[in-house]
This record gives sequence, C-alpha cells and structure tokens, in this order.
Amino acid sequence: MTLSCFELGERMLSLDEALTALQELAPGSLESEVIPLSSLLNRVLAEDAISPVNVPQNTNAAMDGIALSWPNDTQTRFMLQGDVLAGSCFEDPLAPGQAVTITTGAPLPQGADTVIMSEQLLVKEEGASRWVEIEQADRVRQGQNVRRAGEDIPRGSMALKAGTRLNPQHLGLLASLGMAKARVVRRPRVAIFSTGDEVTAPGETLPPAGIFDSNRFSLRGLLTRLGCEVVDLGILGDDFAGIRHALDRAAQTADMVITSGGVSVGQADWTQKALDETGRLGFWRIAIRPGRPLAFGTLGAREIPFFGLPGNPVAVMVTFLQFVQPLLRTLQGEHQWQPRRLTAIADEPLKSREGRVDFLRGIYRCDDQGRLHVSMTGRQGSGILSSMTAANCLIEIEAPRAEVAQGETVTLQPFGELT
Ligand code: AMP
Ligand code: MG
Repeated sequence: MTLSCFELGERMLSLDEALTALQELAPGSLESEVIPLSSLLNRVLAEDAISPVNVPQNTNAAMDGIALSWPNDTQTRFMLQGDVLAGSCFEDPLAPGQAVTITTGAPLPQGADTVIMSEQLLVKEEGASRWVEIEQADRVRQGQNVRRAGEDIPRGSMALKAGTRLNPQHLGLLASLGMAKARVVRRPRVAIFSTGDEVTAPGETLPPAGIFDSNRFSLRGLLTRLGCEVVDLGILGDDFAGIRHALDRAAQTADMVITSGGVSVGQADWTQKALDETGRLGFWRIAIRPGRPLAFGTLGAREIPFFGLPGNPVAVMVTFLQFVQPLLRTLQGEHQWQPRRLTAIADEPLKSREGRVDFLRGIYRCDDQGRLHVSMTGRQGSGILSSMTAANCLIEIEAPRAEVAQGETVTLQPFGELT
C-alpha cells in the first residue's frame, strides 16, 4: 500500500481524486480457484477463456432444406444422394450439382457449399430416385444459409477476457466451448458491523431513543449481489474497547472491513484510536453529498482495506456504490469498472452546490419519443431511506454545476445490478 491516502490530509478531495487514490491503494485481485460451471454465475474470470474448439464445430446448415454442391451450369434440378439429420454426418462427398436433404445444424457433406430452404423446393420421386426442383432459382446465391466452422469463435481465440463478470450469457458461451469449469477469483470475505448505542437489531424491542439497524442489512444485500461472502459482526456500542477488539478479530480473516456510523466529527475518537492501534486511518473529506465524512484506511498486519461509512442509511448506500463497490470489484479482478451512466432531461429544477457532487434519488422514465426524463423522489435527507426504495436511479450532479434548471440534461446512474 502506498502512503498517498494518508498524505491527503485535511484537504477536501474531489470525487475523482478520491476514486483515483482508492484504485492506487487497491491491493490487486485476490487468489483464484477453479469452480464448476453450474456455480459460476456472477463470479469474475481470473484468466482468459481460450476456445479449445471451433464454434460451430462443423460447417453446417442454417435452415432445413437441401445442401448442394454448387453446379457448374445453370441447373435447377438436383438429384438427392441421401439425408443428413442434425447429429449425423454424411460420409460421401458431393460432386457439383449433387444434393442431400439436411436439417438445421447438421454438418454439410464434403463438397457441399450452399443450403436452400425447404420452402423454395419441390421434392419429386420416381422409383428409387429422388430429386428436387428449385422455385425461383435466380434468387439462390452460392454459399447461402451456411454457418462456417469457427465463424462464431475460432479454436484458439480468446472467447472471454480475464476480469469478465459472468452473466448468464457468459455461462452459455463457456458451455458452448465445452468448458465444465473455469478459474475465477475467490469471493472476497467482507466483515461488516454497525455502531451506535442507539442502534437496535430488528426483532428486538426499540428503546425510547433507539433506531433500528438498517445499514447492516442494506450492506449485506449490496455485498451479496456483488458476490462477496458476508461476515456479520452485529452491532457494537460506541465503545472503544469493543470496537477495537472487533476490528482486530475481523482483520485476521476478512479481506475488507466495513463499519457504519461513528465517524462524524466529535464522534470519531474510537475509529481514530482503534485504527491507530490496529491499522492506519486516512480520514477523507470528499466533496460529495450525501456521504461525508468517510473514513478509509487499512487494518492489521495484512493491511486489508477498511471503510468507515457514515451512519445515515442513504449515505451508506451512496458511498458503498461510489467507493466500496469499485474497490471490491478490483479485488475480484474486474479492473477499470465504472458505474453505468445515462443522460436525461430534468423535469424539475435540481439543487446542488458548486464544487460538490450531489447524488439525488431519482425516478427516470422514457417519453413517447424515446427521450429519458428524470425527477426527484421527493425529500432528499440522507436519513430518508424511503427515497432509495422509491428511486430507480441516482441523479449525479457534477461538481461544477451549482444547479440544474428544469429542461436541462443531467447525468444519472440507473439502479441495476446491485440495487
Ligand atoms: P453517526 O454517524 O454515528 O453519527 O450516525 C448518523 C446517523 O445515522 C444517526 O442518526 C444514527 O442514529 C444513524 N445510524 C447510524 N447507524 C445506523 C444504522 N446501522 N441503521 C440506521 N441508522 C443508523
Ligand atoms: Mg453513531
């Protein structure tokens, strides 16, 4: 780990500076393991998948009909030499002007180069001989309706790059190469705990000055969707010894530790003190809202990354999405990841402040001309978690903008993979 995050000091960082510093600190990807295909969904490839086969394996028919060897003259009647069904091969080569019936996916006999679909054919029979006549023969082109061996993926070529997160289409592709397993990065083990004397587990009786713990559950959901193993360390009071002990323990086995709450100015003592003894702390003042303050550092002898997220439930989710997510994706081998962004027309004026990136909870929709529009969910306080459940995106108002007028365009990050 470089020193840069600890040298950033008290200066207010821009969102981009903070993201760059985080990436510089990322310890690189975790070790890899070989996993069966059926369990690979959402895992990240640790090495390129090189195709051991041609896909498709054989040059084959794209239609049901006949496969023929292109004639030397303008012949429109073809003698049938046999039938080729998918799953079988026709052993004898075809001479120019000869044909076989064929079904979709069946390999073309040697010498055949063109397929004509059944709908364009008239099949005739006389005694033991069968032939077809082509309707509108002038429409037939040599080479038509043929899928060439290896046209999708040639043998030896890179089918998927290391760092690819495996979605259903990737699993289908690996299967089409005959790969029953793949080497992927192991799942990061992420320890989480909530802090605060007022924070109460759902299911317990809420004390007069209590608040139910939502952060641990939104974090658990985010981490699970991102393919992490969650180590839930529960709720800790605002007490130095307990927190220190929990951080120590977590640092022994986890790949990352995330806490929420207890990092605001005046309350930060325990984090500072605990980190002084068991790691290093870089307090970051980042020009974003919601999401200040955010603590980042390393823990234990293994110097695993530590995030002290704010306590407010919306701020937790926003900072997770913007900062924790890219670092976890780097640990998983998914480098250069960026959030998806769209541009939409603001349907109402949006308040922001110059020099700060504001993340508002928004609802985007498409109008009947295909243009995207976005509006706010309503009240935007960082404790108003219902703004996250009403939203389908975060509106991201870049630092240079002081406000967005109605009708101007604005950037949004659509909810999707994790939210
Ligand atoms: P803090 O950063 O600890 O001052 O917390 C800021 C605000 O977030 C306070 O109103 C806390 O009660 C609230 N908060 C802290 N942790 C949680 C949690 N796990 N779930 C819900 N609210 C929380
Ligand atoms: Mg607190």
